Amino acid sequence: MVSRVIPVDEFDLVIFGGTGDLARRKILPALFRRFCAGQMERGARIIGAARSEMDNEGYREFVREALREFGTGRACEEGTLEGFCKTLSYITVDARGTDGWSALAAMMKPGVVRAFYFSVGPSLFGDLAERLHQYGMADADSRIVVEKPFGRDLATARALNDTLALHFDESQIYRIDHYLGKETVQNLMAVRFGNMLFEPLWNAQYVDHIQITVAETVGVGGRGEYYDRSGAMRDMVQNHLMQLLCLIAMEPPAKFDPDAVRDEKLKVIRALDPVPPEDIVRGQYLAETDDPDKPGYLAHAENPRSKTESFIAMRLAISNWRWKGTPFYLRTGKRLKARTSEIAVVFKDTPHSIFGPEAGRHRNILTIRLQPNEGMELGVTIKEPGPGGMRLIDVPLDMSFAEALGPEAEEVPDAYERLIMDVIRGNQTLFMRGDEVEAAWAWTDPLIEGWEARGDAPVPYESGSSGPEDALMLMHRDGRRWREIRA
Ligand code: NAD
Repeated sequence: MVSRVIPVDEFDLVIFGGTGDLARRKILPALFRRFCAGQMERGARIIGAARSEMDNEGYREFVREALREFGTGRACEEGTLEGFCKTLSYITVDARGTDGWSALAAMMKPGVVRAFYFSVGPSLFGDLAERLHQYGMADADSRIVVEKPFGRDLATARALNDTLALHFDESQIYRIDHYLGKETVQNLMAVRFGNMLFEPLWNAQYVDHIQITVAETVGVGGRGEYYDRSGAMRDMVQNHLMQLLCLIAMEPPAKFDPDAVRDEKLKVIRALDPVPPEDIVRGQYLAETDDPDKPGYLAHAENPRSKTESFIAMRLAISNWRWKGTPFYLRTGKRLKARTSEIAVVFKDTPHSIFGPEAGRHRNILTIRLQPNEGMELGVTIKEPGPGGMRLIDVPLDMSFAEALGPEAEEVPDAYERLIMDVIRGNQTLFMRGDEVEAAWAWTDPLIEGWEARGDAPVPYESGSSGPEDALMLMHRDGRRWREIRA
């Protein structure tokens, strides 16, 4: 059932920050799995580049160690690991200086796809782009991959885009949001635009509301100080939740091609209304009462006066013909009761129930689960089996991949695997375009400025809960309810 693996062209992939946390946990394990799947041509090369002094063998050992810790349990023989290690080399480079750059330029193979992954802090992006240009590596066929955060507001995002644009065309810039690489997210487009069934109902006439939840159980832990400068709005809503919202709400693009899809997403962001303060709830988690190892947000942030939110819930409105009148409820937070990401499209009640009031109220809900267990489920109403008259119940039509694909489900590539291979193929559909990022900030900035100017403080919420009570009220007052947060 899993589609055939088509090897990508030969490539040189340089990972700046190749010794960093992201490289160890995500990028290198993803590359290894694609290698195991047979997607890399002989001759593909991965070059780690970072400040640490290390030789090729040292880097291979570093990667073996990373794969032992973070490689998934998929079958991959020892021989394959050694084959993968042969694709690896390492060079010491200083993004801010001249060390290593000439040697890196000399290593580049002519005539193959050339990709540079910027897995370093954003303050180095400009330096890297500049050096690549200066040392002749920023040619028309090269691509750069950039990790979030893409700025912290519109001004910084613009400055970053402008810096990258000095040396690279937009068609060469791949801004990664790993949410977009998830199987289910793409399946969302397949379900919407590959079936006759859903699209005619996909509008304010038939959809009562849409809920998007991204819940985490972890707190901000060791990155408290960094997080305190950001908060849930900047860290999650402006990028991940906004991207999910766009895919749900966008018009059908004329073609499944990068710019056609991204043009439609951009229109959604531009059609978002400003959000009034009463439609935003911000929260901060409290300490876990019976676990001294789980302090509250303020202790984690080491800032007792912090007004940064670790939770946010909002009610959004999209002003266009399709969605006028259908609210979108978004929520995301840390230290919640389960780790889950899901989108629920809640359809309206039938206009009239022929079964009478005793049959109760039943609604179709399409649930798109991103984690755990990626998949989709459609709730349909049927007759409760057996005698005793016409009693109605809701049952799920389960479209989860694990069911449909059986043991092969675990061979479905994860987000990083798919996205990195898309970079090599030159397909930007699942990457954010510069104007999308800027439009998202242009919508976000006034909301943040608004609560900062008002001096609004987040409300506390219990660790392991569904967030603050006020967030529940956000829906209750509209006569609606959040879906339960559960794994
Ligand atoms: P990290 O601090 O673990 O690693 C940074 C890497 O950059 C190291 O390899 C270091 O040697 C290299 N480096 C630092 N200064 C350098 C210089 N002057 N010249 C050359 N190399 C230099 O960081 P990370 O967690 O791997 O994050 C990398 C980027 O990815 C950041 O922008 C981060 O925001 C983003 N990101 C990380 C994660 C994650 O899970 N770690 C998730 C999403 C986005």
